[in-house]
Amino acid sequence: MKKILITGGAGFLGSHLSERLLNEGNEVICLDNFFTGGKQNVLHLLDNPFFELIRHDVTMPFFIEVDEIYNLACPASPIHYQFNPIKTVKTSVMGAVNMLGLAKRIGARILQASTSEVYGDPTVHPQEESYWGNVNPIGIRSCYDEGKRCAETLFVNYHHQNNVKIKIIRIFNTYGPRMHPHDGRVVSNFIMQALRGQDITIYGDGKQTRSFQYVDDLVEGMIRMMASHEDFIGPVNIGNPGEFTMLELAEKVIKLTGAKSKIIHMPLPADDPTQRKPDISLAKKELNNWEPKIPLEEGLGYTIAYFDKLIKDGSIDKF
Ligand code: NAD
Ligand code: UDP
Repeated sequence: MKKILITGGAGFLGSHLSERLLNEGNEVICLDNFFTGGKQNVLHLLDNPFFELIRHDVTMPFFIEVDEIYNLACPASPIHYQFNPIKTVKTSVMGAVNMLGLAKRIGARILQASTSEVYGDPTVHPQEESYWGNVNPIGIRSCYDEGKRCAETLFVNYHHQNNVKIKIIRIFNTYGPRMHPHDGRVVSNFIMQALRGQDITIYGDGKQTRSFQYVDDLVEGMIRMMASHEDFIGPVNIGNPGEFTMLELAEKVIKLTGAKSKIIHMPLPADDPTQRKPDISLAKKELNNWEPKIPLEEGLGYTIAYFDKLIKDGSIDKF
């Protein structure tokens, strides 16, 4: 049994990771300031004596003895991370400093949840880890993109300078149950709109692409990365290489929900990446043949069922 700290553990991804690590017989301590996550995501874990939930902001130091740290604390959806951009930078940068300092002191392995956003609006397609990216440092997405890039810098420097055992994964768009229904990300928006019979809002012409990964595939990749050989620090892409336009996604959601919604177009936000698709050769090679298993339609089915239940039992009003 390992003692594992998860920052941002009450968020969408953190709650799934907590569940999986507990099921494997570990002790999980989850830190969260409940900005975008909440107790509702981990309510089903609170009775487990090996699960602990602590309200804490990662911009402040935190002391504990653990074997592993997964650093996930950071709002992930554009409307949330743009709500208070200075705080977003502080969460990524000061959060990384605080957690790396902790890992250094106690000798824990630490994994950083980085992002495909470090590639910005990529001019190389698909994106390999060796690509340095194309990020506007003063644009509306920069608080997130540059914060995450700086966190990667901190991770590799704590590794080289202080021998901290680090792991960096670059997560591509991930979806599934427990995404926040109002977080404005495309999968939750389209499903909520379809289930409520509202218009489906496509930003721009809808020809921009994303590659959508189901949450269970990501959690498997995260755990394999944490367990990988000490010399393999990453960064490594963890994503599903299936690439879809937003128009294709909207059509799939309409088909799967049987909605009568019509598609409408709205202005494209600034700096919105035009294409995104991971090259996952490195993950396959280093993470024991890891690759995503859940195709988009299957994963959308599980996610639609989750939102449908929230709407039908009224718990949607709690968000
Ligand atoms: P989320 O918003 O559901 O979860 C983030 C969690 O961090 C929330 O519970 C939030 O309350 C908490 N948090 C935010 N600021 C904090 C702070 N200062 N101190 C303590 N807790 C704080 O988002 P998610 O999709 O679960 O993303 C988790 C991590 O994975 C993030 O670091 C995100 O950047 C990264 N990521 C996610 C995706 C994706 O598609 N979901 C893609 C790339 C990277
Ligand atoms: N998008 C959209 N309609 C929506 C929400 C998002 O067309 O209601 C588009 C958005 O402009 C982007 C893509 O969907 O091109 C993915 O957006 P999301 O915020 O989910 O993720 P990110 O842009 O961070 O990859």
